[in-house]
Amino acid sequence: MSKRRFEGMAAVITGVNDRGIGAAIADQLAQEGAQLALLWHEEPKRFLKRLEKRNIDVLSIECDVTRQSQVNAASEKVRDRFGETDVLINNAGIDHSGEFTSTSDEDWLSLIDVNLTGAMRVIRSFLPSLTADRGVIVNIASVLGIAGCAGFPAYSASKAGLIGLTQSIAAEMAPQGIRAVCVAPALVKTPMLKKYLSTFDEDVLAELERSHPLGVGSPQDVAAAVAFLASPEARWITGVTLPLGWNAAFPL
Ligand code: NDP
Repeated sequence: MSKRRFEGMAAVITGVNDRGIGAAIADQLAQEGAQLALLWHEEPKRFLKRLEKRNIDVLSIECDVTRQSQVNAASEKVRDRFGETDVLINNAGIDHSGEFTSTSDEDWLSLIDVNLTGAMRVIRSFLPSLTADRGVIVNIASVLGIAGCAGFPAYSASKAGLIGLTQSIAAEMAPQGIRAVCVAPALVKTPMLKKYLSTFDEDVLAELERSHPLGVGSPQDVAAAVAFLASPEARWITGVTLPLGWNAAFPL
């Protein structure tokens, strides 16, 4: 029998599109009984239709995480519909590849604004309505935030910052029974990855394969780990970053 670990709980996910990691997490949590608020940059029409066909009722909200007014409006809508939020997933993110010496201020600031400051804005706005003794924040970091990577200085810095933010929030909120954790996936097959791989030649692709002995992950692999960390089964786990598809002994 499949588990229903999120029965009676409300979950909020940012940066949901039709095929990415956010949609896979939404799918998994809905299957396990969660009520969903899906925040998006561009409406994920096909995914919303798929959920509708399965009679899954979701609160669908436009929310650019770089705009505090939109984030606050979204948190008010969620509060009006669900009251408290049990699970808050910061998934919205962008990438930008390029050597450090060719990274412009504009590239740097726009990436940090979405991946790090965006998550901070969302947490700041939703924190007052997270359920005491049960609420959990799951931030989607990256293995590049742990190990760094040539060609990705801004992206790696944004995800390393997210890991530090998570640790501090975990420490501040533990007395109220609110947890904060990260997952740090290696490469996952999503539209973001497709765009990134298209910039490399075959040698680099072979090298990437070598550095992923467990293979490239799927959005569902990430969703399974997120669901465990967000569930009451993980009630004694906070402040940690769980690497997915990678460990320190693998080449990067
Ligand atoms: P996608 O590009 O499919 O998803 C990222 C989502 O974030 C998109 O829906 C995008 O919307 C949204 N987004 C971008 N900017 C904003 C914004 N300002 N406000 C709100 N939403 C925004 O990529 P993935 O599913 O692969 O990535 C999901 C998360 O996982 C990201 O944080 C990424 O860094 C992380 N990750 C991904 C890995 C991978 O290999 N795929 C590996 C490790 C981590 P839109 O496209 O409309 O702009």
